[in-house]
Amino acid sequence: MIFQLNKSINQPIALQKKYGVHLFLKREDNIHPFISGNKYRKLKYNLEEAKKMGISKLLTFGGAYSNHIAAVAFAGQEFGFETIGIIRGDELEDKIQENPTLLFAKGCGMQFRFISREMFREKHSIPFIEILKTEFDDFYLLPEGGTNELAVKGCEEILTEADNHFDYVCCAIGTGGTISGLINSSKKNQEILGFPALKGSFLKEDISRFVTNKNWSIINEYHFGGYAKINIELIEFMNHFKEENNIQLDPVYTGKMMFGIFDLLEKGYFKRGSKILAIHTGGLQGISGMNNVLRQKKMPIIV
Ligand SMILES: *Cc1c(COP(=O)(O)O)cnc(C)c1O
Repeated sequence: MIFQLNKSINQPIALQKKYGVHLFLKREDNIHPFISGNKYRKLKYNLEEAKKMGISKLLTFGGAYSNHIAAVAFAGQEFGFETIGIIRGDELEDKIQENPTLLFAKGCGMQFRFISREMFREKHSIPFIEILKTEFDDFYLLPEGGTNELAVKGCEEILTEADNHFDYVCCAIGTGGTISGLINSSKKNQEILGFPALKGSFLKEDISRFVTNKNWSIINEYHFGGYAKINIELIEFMNHFKEENNIQLDPVYTGKMMFGIFDLLEKGYFKRGSKILAIHTGGLQGISGMNNVLRQKKMPIIV
């Protein structure tokens, strides 16, 4: 299968007002429909490593709508790995049919183990991994969200020389692997801004494990109440953005980041004359699952 790296172009974004800045979106979402954006970057060197070690089984963790689960499942099918997904929430076990992400992963051959939320919190503990090893034998472990050193190395390839003239680079944050790669490959004069998709203050330490550069900040005001929490304002923003630019954003990550960027533009946050590059990290497979939830709540859906 072909990764279309040449399609990750920097696309200019229409700004209705004269903010005195230029905004571009790096279309990493175009790289692949299922191993999209940063998930491709994060898997690249890990899959190479697993092959090198002669391990034919990938095991990882994720929630019900996880882009990482979908990406690992598809990559497994494509590159000849067995895949095991440890899924948060044992109530999901008999709801696979209603969950587009899990249904897709299952179709790619992923084997699931559903565990309680309490147990899921222990997922990276040594005793828990030992239990998994007795159950599943030898496997290559990809942490939740896929973030580890090799993932960060892959994300260091998102920015290229051609991006050196940007003053700001913006990205959404889940576990912090993607922004770590961006920080490592950034130039000193660039400022990297991260927009967390979830509440919490643990991110700074997580990122600091992978980076030494100091040219980054976290903007915490746009998580919309927590992971995968959304409201009508965000949906309307995303739908309007699509109408204007013909670019689909996802509700969990890139929608919130772009909402934040537009709000910061309105507040005059960016220096006049600056060039801003936002990263579209993909994640579009999650939209249909989110729309199912929105329909149940009788809310407007993402178009
Ligand atoms: C997983 C994901 C992220 C979060 O990336 P981290 O490296 O975990 O911070 C951001 N955007 C999208 C679309 C994702 O799927």
